Amino acid sequence: MLQLRPPIVTVMGHVDHGKTSLLDAIRKTSVAEREHGGITQHIGAYKGNFEIHPSAKATERKQNSKFEITFIDTPGHEAFAKMRARGARVTDLVVLVVAASDGVMPQTKESLEHIKAAGVPFLVAINKIDLPGADPEKVKAQLAELGVLVEGYGGETVAVPVSAKTGEGVATLLEMIAILGEMQNLKADPEGRLEGIVIESRSDSRRGVTATVLVKNGTLRLGDRVQAEGVAGNVKAMFDDKGAPVKEASPSTPVEVLGLPKAPSAGTPVSLVGEAPEAAELPVAPSAPAEAAELSGQKLRVILRADVSGSLEALKGIVGEDVQVLSSGLGEVTDSDVLLAKTTGSIIYGFNVKVPAEAEKLAEEEKIVIRTFKIIYELADDLKGRVARFKNPSLGEQILGKAVIAAEFKIEGARIAGCRVTEGRINKSDTLHVSREGVVIGDVRLKTMKQKKTEVEEAKVNQEFGAILSPYIDFKIGDVLISFQGSLGS
Ligand code: GDP
Repeated sequence: MLQLRPPIVTVMGHVDHGKTSLLDAIRKTSVAEREHGGITQHIGAYKGNFEIHPSAKATERKQNSKFEITFIDTPGHEAFAKMRARGARVTDLVVLVVAASDGVMPQTKESLEHIKAAGVPFLVAINKIDLPGADPEKVKAQLAELGVLVEGYGGETVAVPVSAKTGEGVATLLEMIAILGEMQNLKADPEGRLEGIVIESRSDSRRGVTATVLVKNGTLRLGDRVQAEGVAGNVKAMFDDKGAPVKEASPSTPVEVLGLPKAPSAGTPVSLVGEAPEAAELPVAPSAPAEAAELSGQKLRVILRADVSGSLEALKGIVGEDVQVLSSGLGEVTDSDVLLAKTTGSIIYGFNVKVPAEAEKLAEEEKIVIRTFKIIYELADDLKGRVARFKNPSLGEQILGKAVIAAEFKIEGARIAGCRVTEGRINKSDTLHVSREGVVIGDVRLKTMKQKKTEVEEAKVNQEFGAILSPYIDFKIGDVLISFQGSLGS
């Protein structure tokens, strides 16, 4: 039976704005934490139980003054974006931390981009209000400039002034999180199929492989045979976020699991071996918020990076109207850029900036194109070429096959495109243009390709198949998938 489950919350914001301190301050107010004596174990997430005290604004919640909230306590948008890039929808709510002393900073904006791309509800914690220079009103005005309208600025985004240092406002923040969580009516079935997500994992010589798994549905039990990333293992031991051994974990509960043979990466789904493998295979589709629809317009999406603001402005000036600049910033290309590119199907352009080895490796893994230039007109030429091919994909490309999207199904919240091959063949490993009325609106890959219930590698002319398209694209019936050689990615 479906039951309410605690909201899962991620904290994001600019470096040094107090994400870690706020998580600590919140943890200290948790009932279990106070009873436990403050010995904590970092496993990447924890479930706190909280009480609203009479001193807090508990007016609307008198009967229900106790509640639980699960926090992902690896702060920052990298972890969030990484999980999302793997198709995992972990977070129900984001707390965007902005220091009242500093105001909106580059990573505040970056966090907002990730929040919007994911379509996750959020609230703002205006932190460090204890500092003499703190100016919460200025923060609200800056947020308004970014289109985030808080109460008092004509909008409904919740903003709570807090101090992670003195604890002021923390109870109100928790209460607002609980209310926003309740409004989402988050439910899971503790007796249903197990769906877990790996939050982090490590492997050391003493304990072997340990993985923190956040249960989203069903119950994970000691002795269960589970699978993650195609490897199976028995749950030999489980520990909660206080390091205490536990026998089971219900929805929204994080546990450290021992028994997997290999450390899975963050965002990997965990399921029981043999339990509805087909459904378990299906990734959780990102929700299709207004933003996502907006993103799938007929423009080539790019992320821009430049060394100085002058050149960044120049770049923005040359991109033209067929290009949508999804994000732009100064300095080297970051992992976060790569992950944003992956979730939005963008290309990254760098001007006079470096690509650190890590970001390059990640881009290779995620098949993201990063183009860097030292001469601006060369960048402009490259971009022009890509726009031309984007609008007319047959330019310099050989068409290998076409399929029309003839139907749409929903399974487990994922949108499945029901396709019929009209020309040539479509391979599961292809990168495909999605073309609407003759204009390419994005490139996708097939996350799954099925005929009836069988996963297939190829469909030939007149054959049908069902597929999940990745990254998410707001496809419509009548759109055409085009398989081609001589890819945009080269
Ligand atoms: P993070 O990088 O966002 O995780 O930020 P931290 O939590 O590490 O905080 C950065 C610095 O700001 C640390 O020196 C904290 O002690 C300080 N800090 C965090 N919150 C507050 C606050 O509410 N008031 C004051 N005065 N300092 C704070």
